[in-house]
Formats: sequence, structure tokens, C-alpha cells
Amino acid sequence: MEKKYKPEIIEGKWQAKWNDSMYYFEGSPDKEPYIIDTPPPYPTGDFHIGNALNWCYIDFIARYKRMRGYDVLFPQGWDCHGLPTEVKVEEIHGISRHQISKQEFRELCRQLTSVNIDQMRGMMRRLGMSIDWSKEYVTMDDRYKRYTQLSFLRMYHGGLIYQAEHPVNWCPRCETAIAFAEVEYEDRDAYLNYILFRKIVVGGEKKEAEYVEIATTRPELLASCVAVAVHPDDERYKSIVGKELVVPIFEHRVKVYGDESVDPEFGTGVVMICTFGDRQDVKWWKLHNLPLKASIDQRGRMTEIAKGYEGLSVEECKKKIIEDLDANGLLKRRERIKQKVGVCWRCKTPIEIISTKQWFVRVRKDEIIKAAREIKWYPEHFRIRLENWVESMEWDWCISRQRIFSVPIPVWYCKRCGAVKVASEKDIPVDPSTSNPNTPCVNCGSTEFEGEKDVLDTWMDSSLTALWAAGWSFNAGSGIEFPVELRPQGHDIIRTWAFYSILRSIALTQKIPWRTILINGMVLGEDGYKMSKSRNNTISPDEVIQKHGADVFRQWAAIGGAVGSDVQFRWKDIVAASKFMQKLWSILRFSMIHLSDYKPFLNKKGKENLRVIDKWLLSKLNKLILSVTVSMENFKFDEAMKDIRAFAWNVLADNYIELAKSRLYGRGGERGKESAKYALYKTIKTLSVLLAPFIPFYAEEMHSCITGKEGERSVHKEKWPEPVTIDSEAEQEGDLIADIVRAVRNYKSKHGIPLNAPLGKIELHVDIESLDTEDIENATATKVELCKSMSEISEGEILDVDGTKVVIIR
Ligand SMILES: [Zn+2]
Ligand SMILES: [Zn+2]
Repeated sequence: MEKKYKPEIIEGKWQAKWNDSMYYFEGSPDKEPYIIDTPPPYPTGDFHIGNALNWCYIDFIARYKRMRGYDVLFPQGWDCHGLPTEVKVEEIHGISRHQISKQEFRELCRQLTSVNIDQMRGMMRRLGMSIDWSKEYVTMDDRYKRYTQLSFLRMYHGGLIYQAEHPVNWCPRCETAIAFAEVEYEDRDAYLNYILFRKIVVGGEKKEAEYVEIATTRPELLASCVAVAVHPDDERYKSIVGKELVVPIFEHRVKVYGDESVDPEFGTGVVMICTFGDRQDVKWWKLHNLPLKASIDQRGRMTEIAKGYEGLSVEECKKKIIEDLDANGLLKRRERIKQKVGVCWRCKTPIEIISTKQWFVRVRKDEIIKAAREIKWYPEHFRIRLENWVESMEWDWCISRQRIFSVPIPVWYCKRCGAVKVASEKDIPVDPSTSNPNTPCVNCGSTEFEGEKDVLDTWMDSSLTALWAAGWSFNAGSGIEFPVELRPQGHDIIRTWAFYSILRSIALTQKIPWRTILINGMVLGEDGYKMSKSRNNTISPDEVIQKHGADVFRQWAAIGGAVGSDVQFRWKDIVAASKFMQKLWSILRFSMIHLSDYKPFLNKKGKENLRVIDKWLLSKLNKLILSVTVSMENFKFDEAMKDIRAFAWNVLADNYIELAKSRLYGRGGERGKESAKYALYKTIKTLSVLLAPFIPFYAEEMHSCITGKEGERSVHKEKWPEPVTIDSEAEQEGDLIADIVRAVRNYKSKHGIPLNAPLGKIELHVDIESLDTEDIENATATKVELCKSMSEISEGEILDVDGTKVVIIR
């Protein structure tokens, strides 16, 4: 074995040797299944460090559970559809999606997606993920598309999907409806404009102020103003409740409502209700049954309702209206404010709320919250985040998108009577824009149809992954094992992936999707901030692997922080992990000098006559097995890895090997040597198994060396070790021996004596009659004399070690 650990050689060797079938799900009736609902990443081509962290967690669990005897399914899918790929294709080819046919555009999206998947798959393999590649799925394939459309049909027939004209969040740049979860909020500078609405003075009425002042950041919506509201207890405005005001510039009349949800402190305490400025407007619009006046169209241009401003963009209109108000003396003043603005997640354009005809999935809040409470959350507090989100939703989940690269909605409309015609289950997947239904309209008998042009929200695909992994059959109403065991995912997609998956599972199966959800944090840059290109603090897993290997990256992922918390990336942690690899390598190299042809079954003597330090090592090893097992069961990978590191470094390398070295070299006879060999063998082999989930390449090498079978039986096929007896007597004695040796060594270095130089004598005043002093003598190169604790103390330097008097006589 070489002196230096070379990850590129070891990792390359096992990468080439391993066979995918090692990790195939067996579907065996004798084993308990453990199914993981792996995230299907969006194929951007970049398997970034955040993904890598999440996948490391998944792989730790998958490998551990396999060793515990479970039939583990670790599938991998790809969530292909959606806007980012469309935008990328437009960029790469320098085209707009309107310039070529939908079919051609989809083909370009498919091609780009395939290339990107290849890249990301390569990184997963390089990181040593034990994925069952025979179960890989791609949501843009017909098989998965059929699944998505089937789920649509089932929910449609079950009354859980409906079509309606309703206000939705709309991105005027992407020209599509988007869901609540796709709206992000940004702080932007804005002006609060104080505008005058004229009162209607009827003859004989008492003369008072002629105008009501209203503060708004969106004067361009004046044409859409359908009412005004004040707080019913606001003394300033009691006299105008129920009366009408005249909207400036557009001169239409609107009624004043008293409404508890108006904040009297904001602006002047009077608000205008427009269709629609924000979500609150939608609430008021419904509550007071107000008319709908849409002044902004789907491209973000002013409509003919905004007379005199028609065709202007929202920004242009805002500017012009302010000028016009000012010119007419209707603008009192302007105030600079900071405002939270809802923007499109993809392009950051401020969203509009526009009423259009869309498809919706019914959100039954209570059912979802109840289901979320039946699921075990790690860490627990993330459940509250989901509940808060569900509570905040103001209308159903809008699932139709006015885009191209996605699963088509399997619906046609009768050209004669307009009736909706949904596809039949046997015909899906269908693309209604290029095909016709096989049966006439049930309403009027016509055979002429118009295909639905909209496609489905991509979360309609990915919210089915748990069902897909379990092989859920809609017809049989069952899967291999449903709910599945585990959903691992990031906390950034709780309101989307976790939420939609629970909703869909309940709707389609009346069951929760998984028993446990494990939430991982984000990776922060070296500077402690979220990684981003603009901060220039991003690190790719590839960079780490090139320099130090995949096992080092995985070790960092395990030890970097508790599951659920954000993990800061630090090169010094990578260097520490790399040093540990070298330490393990040196331990293995030393061990193999003594164990290269060791046969535990032939050399039984060692086990039968164990020396105290060997018993001490094995007892500590058993404690390690116990603590690592408990940590793994609770997803505490950082604690498991820390315990293994501490054992290998302190107990094994610094103490045990120093103490047992002489016996291993055969000084002091065959029995002492056999005992040490047995203990060392057992420890190295067990360590290789405990390390296997974390550093699979190195663990395989270690296991292969120690078993002498060149990976014939992979460490990844081994059983997880069961702890046997803890020998506390041996541990106590062993601790004392180790401490005495350390104290003597310190004494030597303090007095400038070489560590291997003998002293005159060491006197131990201790009441353990049979204390095994051989290893102390070997490690200190000095004769040891055992004395009773009360006996007379010779002349010399007295050291106190754990209450034992150690007398050094030079
Ligand atoms: Zn957008
Ligand atoms: Zn018809």
C-alpha cells in the first residue's frame, strides 16, 4: 500500500468495478420495503452543491437501511417541464416561442433536457449515490405523461378539478397564470400618491369639504376602481359611508363601504378597491359583489376601459396619469415609501391579478393540515411552515399555464355547443391541439372540437412522485407499499412540492404520501451568505471532488451541520475531512502489515484469550456501534460521523495502536499477538461497515483489504453490526492503562527524554492485582512494578493519574 491516500485511484477503481444491480430494489416478499420519494430535480444541467447535500443525506439513509436488511428503493426521476427550459431554449436558439410551431419548440426543449440530464446523472454517479437506475423516470416521457393525465381525469371526475373564470396571479412578461407559490416578494421603492375623489353634493346638503383624499401606490388602476372603503368606526368618514364618490379623470361613480379590514392608519384611512390591485381587492370584490373592470390586459397593457391611456404599459400609464392628476389639481402630494411587491419567480416582473378562465384544483385546507399532522417531520418545526402556508391561500390552486413545454390538459371543447369533452382513459396520453376525441359530443352530437391550448403546471407532474415510486395503480387502488417511507427535500419547496404532494395523495388515494418527511437546509457560501453568482461565493461539488475526492465531499455533507439547518461551506472543513481520510489510510496501512493473511476463523486463540487493552478496544467499538446506530435512526449524520472520527483518531490510532504495537510485532509471545490481531481485525472490519454509508469508496477499499477478497463481497452487501457486550471492567482498566502511558510520555517530553528511551522503573500504586502491565511496559520501554496503593512510595517523581499514584524512578 502506498503511503499517501489517493482518492482518484481508489474512487476510480471502485466506480469501474461496482455494478448498478447492487442497488436494485428486489421487490422480495421476505424483506420489508423502504421506499424513498427522491426529489426529481429540474434538469438545468447543474447538479449544484445544495442538491449534492440533499442527495448525500438520502444516500446515507439508503445505504444504512439496506445494511439493516430493508429492501430499499432509491429511485431517480427528472422533473422536466416548465418555464426555465423554455426560456433557455429561446436564449440558445435566439428565437421566441411564437416563431416556430409548438411541436418544434417542444422538441428543442426535449433535446436540451436530455443533454442536461446526462450531465447531472454523471455527477450523481461520481458522488457515489446508490440509486436504483433501473427505476429512473423522466416526466417528459409518454409513460409519465399518461400518469399525470390519468390523475387529472380522476380528479376531474371526482369533482376536484374544475374550470372557472377567476382572478389569478399573472405574469405579463411570461404571459401565463401562475400559482401563489410562484409569486415572490421583493422590496421596491414606490410613491404613495394622495389623490382627490370628488363628493357628490346634492342640493340643500350641508356645505363641507368637497373632496375625499385617497392614498394609493397604483394610480394607473383608477379606471378599474369599483368601490371605496373606510373603517366603519373611523369618525372622519362616518358621513360618507353608503354614499358615492366620483373617480378622478374617469368620472365614474363608486360607492363607499364600511369595512373592518381597512387600516385607518394607512394613508388617509380611505382605500380604493380596484379589480385588481392585490389579493385584498379580490376578497372585497367577492364580499361586496362588485363589478369587474379590467384595465390591464394579459400583456401588461392598458385596455380600452382606461380611456385615453389604452395601449400604454402599466409604467407609462402610471406616469401619465400622475401628470394629468397634477395638471388638474387632483394630486395633493406624493410620499416615497418602501413596498413589498409580488413578482414572478422566473423573471421578477411584478405580477398582476387578472381574471381569466383557468383550471383549478380544489384546496381543502383542513384535510391537508390533518394529513400533515399524521406525517413525522424532521425537524418538527417545518410542519408549522406548511400549515401557515395552507392557511394563507386565498383561492384554489391554478393549474393551467399558457405555455408550451408541459403536459397538455386532456380536454376539448365542442365547436357547436361549447361543452367540455375530457379524454377517455384508454386514449391518454393525448395532445388535444393535434388530435380529436374518438366519440362525438354527448351534448349535441357534433364531432367538431377545438383542443385545449393550455398545459399543466409542472407541479402536477412532480406531486405524483410518491405514487409513482410506489407503483400506485389507479385501477387497482394500490401500490407496493403506500404510503412510502420517506420524503427527503429542501425547506425552500415546502409550500410547493410538499404541499402539492400531500394534496394530491389525499385526493387520489385518501392516504398520506409518506410516513416521514426529512427537510434539509441550504448550503451557504464561505462568507455565510446564500450562494449566488452575483456574490461570487458559489462552490460546485465538482471542484471539491477534483481536489479531494467524493468521499471527502460526503464526509463534509455528513458533518457540516444538523439535518434541517443551513450548512456553511468552508474549505477548512474539507481539509479536515481530507486529513481524516489520510489518517484512516495510515491506520489501514499499519493494520495490513499485521493482518494481510489473517484468518479469523482459523485463529480462534486470540478471541479466547483477549488481553485487557484488546477487550477495552472492542468494548469501545461496541459503544460506537450503539451510538452510531441511534444517530442513524434519528437522521443525526453529523453526530454519527463525529463519533466515528473520534473513535478512529483517538481510541484506535492514538491510544490502541501505540499500546498494542509491540505485541502485534510479536514481542512478548504468540498469545499477546493473537489477541491484538483479533481485536484489530474486528475493529477495522466493523469500521469499514460503519463508514460505508458515509464514504462508500474508501469503506469498500478498507473492507476489501481486510477481508482479502478484492471486493468479492462488497461492504455494501454487509449487515449492519449488532453491538455485543460492553465490558465496563475492561474499559476502566484500559482507560487507566492508556492514561498512565500518556502521563509517562508527557513526563518524558517535559524532561527532554526520547519517547523510546527506557526509564529506571515505574511503580504503580493501584489495587487492581491483575492489572495487565505488559502494554504499559512496551509503550514506555520501562519495567513496571505493581504495588498496593497503601504500600510505601519509593523515591522518585510522583504523578497522579485518575487517583492512581505513578512513581517514576530514573
Ligand atoms: Zn415571468
Ligand atoms: Zn356539443
